[in-house]
Amino acid sequence: MQLKLTLMSDGWCEQLEHIAISGGKFQNIRFSSMFALIEHPTLGPILFDTGYTQRFFAETERFPARLYRMVTPVQLLASGGAVTQLQARGIRPEAVKHIIISHFHADHVGGLCDFPNAQFHCSQVGFAAVEKLRGWRALRQAFLRGLLPSDFVQRAAFVEDAPVKSLSASYKPFLDGFDLFGDGSVLAIPLPGHATGQIGIIFNAAGGQEYLLAADACWLSRQYRDALMPHGVVRLLVDWSAYRDTLKQLHHLHQNHPSLRILPTHCAEIWNLAP
Ligand SMILES: [Zn+2]
Repeated sequence: MQLKLTLMSDGWCEQLEHIAISGGKFQNIRFSSMFALIEHPTLGPILFDTGYTQRFFAETERFPARLYRMVTPVQLLASGGAVTQLQARGIRPEAVKHIIISHFHADHVGGLCDFPNAQFHCSQVGFAAVEKLRGWRALRQAFLRGLLPSDFVQRAAFVEDAPVKSLSASYKPFLDGFDLFGDGSVLAIPLPGHATGQIGIIFNAAGGQEYLLAADACWLSRQYRDALMPHGVVRLLVDWSAYRDTLKQLHHLHQNHPSLRILPTHCAEIWNLAP
């Protein structure tokens, strides 16, 4: 089944390239808050993540959350958040029945509250790792609880409960994925490290082009191409050993399947690889 992919963003923050990739330059690079619209022939519009939205500022008004925006100053685009950008394409918020959440960092879940009919496909392990966090502990995980709708739990569909489907040999070392909609159209694969329970998704888009939306498994495409870790200071924020294992897997996947387009959320190169 072929899906229509459109990449969007509602803003960005900046970070030193030197932090994002070992050996990187001492200059700031822009990290766009990419989210993806995936149009499915029978399920309609599906979102992969949802960007920041204005709620990011409301939720980081007070300390300690305010440190979040001080450390990564955020700029939002005039084109508005996911809900506004979808409406500009003629897609009503009520029409979005499925949102896939790669992980619970604020730049991925900012728009969840705008889609009242959406089921949230996320990792149970990932949700369990953040759901009880408050104050400093939440800040350390870049988690802003107010970005989740109050009925989040009732609307959550955990990816671990989806049927497991084998991947073709070209996807080695990944052997299988969670078949999110039971029709083989979108398979979720675990990409832990950057965040506990982080997932990416694999699907075929128009023309048969295969994609892996890799979330923040790495920040830059050079990382999976050349197996390059971030600066060691990032150890403070991530599970370093799981990050390394996931990055190695992506590196091998890229070598085995070079025509697969691997799109890390924040890498500037992805805007040339997808519509
Ligand atoms: Zn993240």
